[in-house]
Amino acid sequence: MHDLIIVGAGLAGLALAARATATGLDVVILEARPRTGGRILAHRTAHATYDLGPAWIWPGMQPLLARAVAQAGLALFPQSETGGLVVQDRSGTIQRLPHGFAQNPPSMRILGGIAALAAHYEAGMPPGTLRLNHNVTGLTASENAIALSCTTPAGTATFHARRIALALPPRLAATLAFTPSLPEPLQRRLAATPTWMAGHAKALALYDTAFWHSTGLSGDGFSQIGPLGEIHDASIPGVAAEAALFGFFAWPADLRAARTLSLKSAITTQLAAMFGPEAATPRDLNIQDWSTEPHTATRSDAASPTSHPSYEPIALPPPWHPRLILSGAESAPDFGGYLEGALAAAAAVPLAATATDPLAATPAGPLN
Ligand SMILES: Cc1cc2nc3c(=O)[nH]c(=O)nc-3n(C[C@H](O)[C@H](O)[C@H](O)COP(=O)(O)OP(=O)(O)OC[C@H]3O[C@@H](n4cnc5c(N)ncnc54)[C@H](O)[C@@H]3O)c2cc1C
Repeated sequence: MHDLIIVGAGLAGLALAARATATGLDVVILEARPRTGGRILAHRTAHATYDLGPAWIWPGMQPLLARAVAQAGLALFPQSETGGLVVQDRSGTIQRLPHGFAQNPPSMRILGGIAALAAHYEAGMPPGTLRLNHNVTGLTASENAIALSCTTPAGTATFHARRIALALPPRLAATLAFTPSLPEPLQRRLAATPTWMAGHAKALALYDTAFWHSTGLSGDGFSQIGPLGEIHDASIPGVAAEAALFGFFAWPADLRAARTLSLKSAITTQLAAMFGPEAATPRDLNIQDWSTEPHTATRSDAASPTSHPSYEPIALPPPWHPRLILSGAESAPDFGGYLEGALAAAAAVPLAATATDPLAATPAGPLN
């Protein structure tokens, strides 16, 4: 029987594990994928590390991330925005505007990628804490504990804990088998909570040089026809041997799926039209489609929300409360859906015993 089992080794789960192990609790993280990070994903080349998931943070207004990055000893650099902006309208007409697209406050990137932050948490974890390839399928509540069933490469396994934190999107929590069942309205609410960016996809085009600078362009571009809708410079400062552009798709998940085979050529054609002929021949072109990842997206995520949803903590009724807590970015008290939200959700999980929440005070001992 463990003090705390965390389901999901994304940023929320990793940060919670760091907090809980620091207080001396016996913690296990069960992660379905063969890697940590969840929506955080790096593409590594011989020269640099690029983000295929989140890339931007705003430490001036995100105190938890600012502290985490500083504690991990990671360096930040601003998103490159110097130069002109390329705009492609609905008719395909392209305009090169002399002014750029300056965000205020500037978006900051982590040298080594956001994955460097996840790696920092993973490196600090006591041996045996992290169990990769453990896909949790069901939870059963009893008086003193919760039993978790999961599938593993070796078959199935059951774990018991006094407290469980589901550090994953509510929509994925809704796919788990709860015994007893969750009340219908709560089940519907979990399933209706969009997972931020889960329906999106990113393309990363690698080049020998940042040729767009030679024509006065910043690498920023917007298109109303796609396939990419928003394009930015993804190059890493100080790396002379490689440059990069990345783009978020404007084409929705179903259109991407229908055009899988022609997607790369559609992207290079679009990049060449917007940034010049050299853009037609990247040395490498990667597509990360999050809508096809079963441990991020459900079918409902294929239609992405048009604006940022308003997220809030989701309380569970007895017998789940107070043993089971939703603690992913989409149940955060602050900055829901963002990386800062993942840290805020991790920070909000109660770990100490209180008069009304005696869990941590329950004497240790075998459940069965
Ligand atoms: C393309 C893209 C761009 C983004 N850009 C930004 C950005 O620039 N800035 C920003 O702040 N945020 C951004 N985000 C959002 C950011 O990625 C998330 O807020 C953050 O990563 C969420 O962390 P999390 O730990 O809550 O969830 P997740 O990262 O989703 O982690 C959940 C974990 O649970 C695991 N899991 C799922 N089901 C199970 C199961 N049944 N059993 C065991 N494990 C399971 C998953 O494998 C995963 O590891 C972006 C997201 C995407 C996809």
